[in-house]
Amino acid sequence: MTRDIPAAEAIVSGRALATGFDVECDVAIVGSGAGGAVCAALLAEAGHRVVVLEEGPHVRPDEYQTWTPSMSVRRLFREAGLLTAMGVGDTPMISITLGRAVGGSSLLTGGVCFRIPSDVHHTWVRDLGLGELSEAALGPAYEEVERRMRVREVPPQMRSRSTEKFLQGAEALGIEMRPIRRNTGLDCEGNARCNFTCPAGAKRSVDVSYLPSATAHGARIVSDALVTDVIVSNGRAAGVEGHLLGGDDAARSHAFRVRARHVIAACGTLHTPLLLFRTGLGLRSGELGNHVTLHPAVRVVARFDEPIVGWDGALQSVYSDQFHSDGIKLVGVYSAPNVLAAGMPGVGPEFRRRVRSLPYCATFGAMIHDEGGGTVRASPGREPLLWYSMAPRDLSRLRKSMTILAEMAFAAGAREVYTSVLGAPPITDMDKARALERLNIDARRIECMAFHPLGSARAANDPRRGVVNQWGETFELPGLYVADGSILPTSIGVNSQVPIMSMAARIAWKLGERIAHEKAVATRTRGRALRRRVAD
Ligand SMILES: Cc1cc2nc3c(=O)[nH]c(=O)nc-3n(C[C@H](O)[C@H](O)[C@H](O)COP(=O)(O)OP(=O)(O)OC[C@H]3O[C@@H](n4cnc5c(N)ncnc54)[C@H](O)[C@@H]3O)c2cc1C
Ligand code: SF4
Repeated sequence: MTRDIPAAEAIVSGRALATGFDVECDVAIVGSGAGGAVCAALLAEAGHRVVVLEEGPHVRPDEYQTWTPSMSVRRLFREAGLLTAMGVGDTPMISITLGRAVGGSSLLTGGVCFRIPSDVHHTWVRDLGLGELSEAALGPAYEEVERRMRVREVPPQMRSRSTEKFLQGAEALGIEMRPIRRNTGLDCEGNARCNFTCPAGAKRSVDVSYLPSATAHGARIVSDALVTDVIVSNGRAAGVEGHLLGGDDAARSHAFRVRARHVIAACGTLHTPLLLFRTGLGLRSGELGNHVTLHPAVRVVARFDEPIVGWDGALQSVYSDQFHSDGIKLVGVYSAPNVLAAGMPGVGPEFRRRVRSLPYCATFGAMIHDEGGGTVRASPGREPLLWYSMAPRDLSRLRKSMTILAEMAFAAGAREVYTSVLGAPPITDMDKARALERLNIDARRIECMAFHPLGSARAANDPRRGVVNQWGETFELPGLYVADGSILPTSIGVNSQVPIMSMAARIAWKLGERIAHEKAVATRTRGRALRRRVAD
């Protein structure tokens, strides 16, 4: 082990290192995704020494921009996109996608940007006593994040024909639609493949919006560096330890240590609890790893007579909160054609005919503001065990949302609708759509996905009810903070990147002030000691 991170580059590939390292800094950050990257940039800009450890690889934008979707899935998705939440009771199997790379899941977003809705903020303040997490308190953080991410409304000319059909159906049924805001500035070319990274370099994922500033201000980032433990000394966090992954000789596993008075866990909702459990935390409140919410989502594919070519346009550009009181958000979304093809119903010639009709198909989506019911625990391997028990209320909402989407499709002139119910025949009219909802078919036949796991180390105003306080510091171990999706106290009903990044910004600002104060006190103390020695 050397005493320094042995490379000249600001972002170092742990894979390429011939030895481990043992370094000291002010803040060690575990994970370089939405939460970790914001903390890294804001703390480095404030003049603090930051080291970021990221388990996934570092891929430069000019490299991933040339990749096919399947390359992105293999190289940037955790477990190549095959993670699932095991359904408990009447619950669908829910596929979970996460990023595992420098930039984390931020690389894979559809670019959609929402603030936490006002009613959610009110609930946090009024019912949970989280006065520090009011809408007004987060205002400056929202502004900071949206400015750096160049969040803009998607202009109407960027809408795909799939979205136009979605709008047409909504208009026919009197459903109000609104434009979505995205972090693509004005540069989006409308390639509709944001979930596999953006080939146009338009999407301001954190590897381009935050991490360059972090490294320009002296932060070191090491990829392929798995943190396994938080070092505890004198009753407080004192750094992290782990090992580098891969390399030419797969058997090599160089250890590293980063000593720091402040540690930020930003591993994401499913992985931060694993690190905290290893550190022996969570036992006091019993809340660590519980209360995971997912925003389960479904889509329907609608076949029209005329060409739609839905891949031509922005991936997502409009949404509706018409069914907000039912916890349903409607979103116009187009999945990549290869993903859509894999989900078409039928086999043999019937399947081939359906796949040939892809240019005539639009996709409509819906997401549920769920009650929660997820639990994360460590497994014998690297990935966590996640199980999820869907509230009966949310299952009804999921079913209802498919009926609403089908109705919109038929109102826009669709011939056939393929629902998210595995093995169900295509639907050709609304009677069949309503009958399918009434059938209450086995929940496990509903093809469901989730992109926003939240809440496994939730913030609370009382150590008995949560894992971190309102400034992200763990109740049980001073100096250990969490700044990722796991601290969200409840489901939010909107896409999570801006909410997570804004919460992380507040944590970083507060921590930055605290470290500056500690440094000032240390300098004064050293000065006094020196003066005393001189006087003696
Ligand atoms: C396909 C997809 C589409 C999405 N679309 C949108 C969208 O349009 N709009 C939106 O708002 N949100 C979207 N999201 C959600 C958004 O990306 C996430 O909410 C957000 O990135 C989560 O931030 P995080 O910091 O909690 O975790 P992440 O961004 O996932 O970062 C966690 C990082 O920590 C690393 N890590 C974990 N454990 C360790 C360890 N022990 N040691 C070192 N490193 C570790 C991981 O490898 C990962 O890189 C999408 C997500 C996905 C997957
Ligand atoms: S729609 Fe295409 S160009 Fe626009 S952000 Fe997504 S991938 Fe990039």
